[in-house]
Amino acid sequence: MSSDIERLIKQNNFKFQHSLGQNFILDEAILEDIADASGVGISDHVLEIGAGAGSLTRMLCKRAGKVLALEIDKNLMPMLGVVLSPFDNVHVENADVMKADLASLIEKHLGEGDVHVVANLPYYITTPVIMMLLESDLPIRSLTIMVQKEVAQRIAAKPKSKDYGALTLAVQYRMSADIALEVTAKNFMPPPKVDSSVVVLRRLEKPPVDTDEKLFFRLVKACFAMRRKTLNNNLCASFSLSKEKAAAIIEKAGFKPTVRGEELSITDIAALAEAFKE
Ligand code: SAM
Repeated sequence: MSSDIERLIKQNNFKFQHSLGQNFILDEAILEDIADASGVGISDHVLEIGAGAGSLTRMLCKRAGKVLALEIDKNLMPMLGVVLSPFDNVHVENADVMKADLASLIEKHLGEGDVHVVANLPYYITTPVIMMLLESDLPIRSLTIMVQKEVAQRIAAKPKSKDYGALTLAVQYRMSADIALEVTAKNFMPPPKVDSSVVVLRRLEKPPVDTDEKLFFRLVKACFAMRRKTLNNNLCASFSLSKEKAAAIIEKAGFKPTVRGEELSITDIAALAEAFKE
């Protein structure tokens, strides 16, 4: 246990906010495992999302070149100041990851070069954060992220399964995915309701399909906007198309009019994008 951090949490009378996904990891062995899984070393720059009380941040400061840690909760700033005081390679930004100008923050505090994201992600925005990072053109080389087990299953899902969706396809487009370790709920403070997995995503040299990237991500989201609807319905709703126009695009891409988004592979979505452009 990071008993010094646990003591600080008590001394500061810190109240965990469930709505901010505040479930901290204080077990040094697990923190070491996460840092090991990331493979981050002295020449690497790290972006941490959700620093909490700084337990993972501190571990990363010991290994990485520079660390930029974002934390939305200003009540955690005094504790982070204490925990991170021995390190001069870290900047903590009191900011919301979904609203911050990440490109400017990275440029200012990490400089040029690749960035490795390492985070015990707040559960309430796990998928939006991953999607936002994958869609961005930030220089992200890898993501080592603690996510709920069900999110890890969605990342690794196969077509037609219930877990297969926009997240699966967005990850497949940019990254390879491996599950590095499982962490049971009792290892968190306070324990959440479900177990978690640490997933390591590493950027592919190039995407597996050659496609219009912006359109690809729009289509991926449109395909699963309403899971129970057909692709035709979803395309009409997301792109304001007539039923006939959507049907013509689907047919041109080589699919039956009744096809559903969950039946499409990454190659199929690229074919759909091509038909869409034409
Ligand atoms: N890294 C710490 C650890 O492993 O113990 C804390 C992880 S905790 C699961 C998630 C952290 O993300 C919380 O400290 C929470 O306040 C912070 N957080 C929640 N929403 C955020 C947001 N939108 N932007 C930045 N940080 C956020």
